Amino acid sequence: MDNFWETKTLVQMSPDEWESLCDGCGLCCLVKIEDEESRLVFNTSVSCRQLDIETCTCRDYENRLADVSMCIRLTLENLPALNWLPDTCAYKRLYQGKKLPVWHPLITGDKDSVHDAGFSARWFAQSEEYIHPDQLVDFIIDIDEK
Ligand code: SF4
Ligand code: SF4
Repeated sequence: MDNFWETKTLVQMSPDEWESLCDGCGLCCLVKIEDEESRLVFNTSVSCRQLDIETCTCRDYENRLADVSMCIRLTLENLPALNWLPDTCAYKRLYQGKKLPVWHPLITGDKDSVHDAGFSARWFAQSEEYIHPDQLVDFIIDIDEK
């Protein structure tokens, strides 16, 4: 998989290559709020109850789509519409014709480099287990300005 992210388009990538693009930031696992009128989607600093905040991994990845209603499978088809993804997201960046950030684990060879660079949910998220749904609006954040 030598630097495939520089030589292949998203369409040309194998399933394993596609999966390995994920930097493990956990930022897509933050609870979102949709404004009913504008249909705009806002991120919050509250994370899905299945997210292990320390490692930014899903506690039940195999069953995530059946278990958590807000969970989605990122695909080539839905990627363009997911405006709430962080600007650092590898899928979003490659779709926009940008390069991977220098701290991306594929470049560093270290899965912790996303955390060390400060671009993960580890540093600020709190689990929805401890937040009442009515309070979510108080936790809205600009995910790219953290
Ligand atoms: S935001 Fe993108 S890179 Fe980060 S965990 Fe989600 S899919 Fe992976
Ligand atoms: S269930 Fe989905 S949104 Fe929740 S932590 Fe797992 S992958 Fe993220």
